[in-house]
Amino acid sequence: MIAKILILKYYISSKKGIYLVEKIQNSEMTIGIPRGMSFYHNYPFYYGFFTDLGIKIVLSDVTTKQTMTSGSALVVTETCLPIKVYIGHVLNLIDKGIDKIFVPSIQSIAPKIYNCSKIRGLPDLVRNVVKKDFTMIEATLDKSEKNQGLYDFLKETAAPFGITDEEKIKKAAKAGWRTYNNFHIMSKSGMSYKKAMNYALQGKVFIESQTKEFPISIALISHGYNIFDERTSMKIFDKLEKMDVKVYSSLQLSNEQMDDGIKALGQEMYWANEREMTGAAGHYLKDIKIDGIITLTAFGCGPDSLMIERITRQAKRFNKPLLNLTVDEQTGEAGFITRLEAFVDMLFRKKRASIINKIEINGESSFIPNTNYIETKKGS
Ligand code: SF4
Repeated sequence: MIAKILILKYYISSKKGIYLVEKIQNSEMTIGIPRGMSFYHNYPFYYGFFTDLGIKIVLSDVTTKQTMTSGSALVVTETCLPIKVYIGHVLNLIDKGIDKIFVPSIQSIAPKIYNCSKIRGLPDLVRNVVKKDFTMIEATLDKSEKNQGLYDFLKETAAPFGITDEEKIKKAAKAGWRTYNNFHIMSKSGMSYKKAMNYALQGKVFIESQTKEFPISIALISHGYNIFDERTSMKIFDKLEKMDVKVYSSLQLSNEQMDDGIKALGQEMYWANEREMTGAAGHYLKDIKIDGIITLTAFGCGPDSLMIERITRQAKRFNKPLLNLTVDEQTGEAGFITRLEAFVDMLFRKKRASIINKIEINGESSFIPNTNYIETKKGS
């Protein structure tokens, strides 16, 4: 300890010393955020919160093959892809020399509504597989067993930076909500995820008027960490848009709409991310402007396999075409595109057939069963 103080004094007495002290202070007020899991929904909040507290954020680089490979190498094969990707992002931050890394444990978001075990135990999982020297900022949100809400979570997050002033934390939380709400207002208006995120982080709000008409509309049902990570989702939004498809996701819906969606499917909410899966599916299955549903899930996800099974059953009831896509680190882009193209092509054919059969009766539009088509098929 004495030796450390002497060395520090020596540095402070030189020009180089000032630089070193600044560097130490800067690293103490810097947090690394991995681009994975809750990042995709909550980053606008984290950004507003940490920035208001004067904490600099360093993000891991966007997901690459290397991120997946390095993360996969540390966990058992059966682990779901989003967790492998998350571990890869933690490693990326450590490689960047970031000492404090934010790994929240989001256990339960409301009484008796839980996250999956991997999300709940994320800090323990990271600690057990990443054997490197770094400090984890591992605040816990648990509204069920510990009745530990957002405010306790934020206090736990700020404490390692020496910030305990409650007023300061409340003010930062307000800044977080402002950025978060701006992001959601823009997303709900139909703006793309990337654009809404960029504007929100700049403190701007724009509402885009949708001018382009799309012949086909699809609802993409998945978790944010699957579809907004361009590597994991293989840029599914861009691919569908190029096929002239308008894509809707849970981001365009309010919590109330998704809760109604869960009820419409006769379900009860148990999983924290059930809203964005069954809730969004329930809403879009009833929505007549939606021509088809695509679900995108990660191989090895237990909760999703249960939810997808229910959604598939309900899609039959609502007579909505459904495509289930499962991804893992081996998924090839060519096969992925082929399945998307085949599904979209089927939707176009279905729509064309229904338009051909739509005739005017007494000035009102009506649908007539496509008997000719069926007879032709039978006779052919
Ligand atoms: S919900 Fe599924 S995909 Fe998400 S972390 Fe849990 S197991 Fe993985």
